[in-house]
Amino acid sequence: MIELLQEIELQQDQAERSTAQELLRWASNRFGSRMAIASSFGGDAVVLIDIAARTVKNLRVFTLDTDFLFPETYELIERVQDKYGIQVERTRPTLSAAQQAARFGEALWSREPNLCCQIRKVDPLKAKVAELDAWVSGIRRDQTPSRARAKKLEWDAHFGLVKLNPLVDWTTEQIWDYVRANDLPYNALHDRNYPSVGCTHCTRPVQIGEDPRAGRWVGFQKTECGLHAKE
Ligand code: SF4
Repeated sequence: MIELLQEIELQQDQAERSTAQELLRWASNRFGSRMAIASSFGGDAVVLIDIAARTVKNLRVFTLDTDFLFPETYELIERVQDKYGIQVERTRPTLSAAQQAARFGEALWSREPNLCCQIRKVDPLKAKVAELDAWVSGIRRDQTPSRARAKKLEWDAHFGLVKLNPLVDWTTEQIWDYVRANDLPYNALHDRNYPSVGCTHCTRPVQIGEDPRAGRWVGFQKTECGLHAKE
């Protein structure tokens, strides 16, 4: 463990100077099939999968299927699977929606969204990464203040494995330029004023001039699911 932490620390400067492709190539050689991309199937996610598909051997992609994703998100998952010939690994909560309602009451997300995210996202992620040595996320520094400090390569102390954020220095414009230039599939909700897409219960479209993540957890101070360190 100490050796791995030292290795990550030594690699961090090089990683910061690397392109997304270079970083993924290094990580693929280093971690092999014990590395997987976590995808929420927003615009960033498809860019990440596209770059990885050109770079990574044994590409693995998983998604946290909360049971509350939009039909457009499930449709995008199918399109990505067809385009890249992969099977997206769907990580599910241990409680079904009905079991959660029976134990905690109806519409937990409207009362205690942190607990709902813990049950439907954080705990399933914890179980998933237990089988990995490294996970890859599509977060970017310009998305939230807490993400501004994310590095391209870091030790995820919360979940206990290596974390890569290859697109962390990309801008929204760069993401969409890449999507258009490569004619990538993307979530249809992005064309309907949903710049950030999560669960149906906690995502609404944004108005002109609003922050891109203003449509998430409306009425709460919450800005993150709890998946990304440094929150
Ligand atoms: S985003 Fe909302 S519905 Fe989805 S897990 Fe979190 S609180 Fe629950």
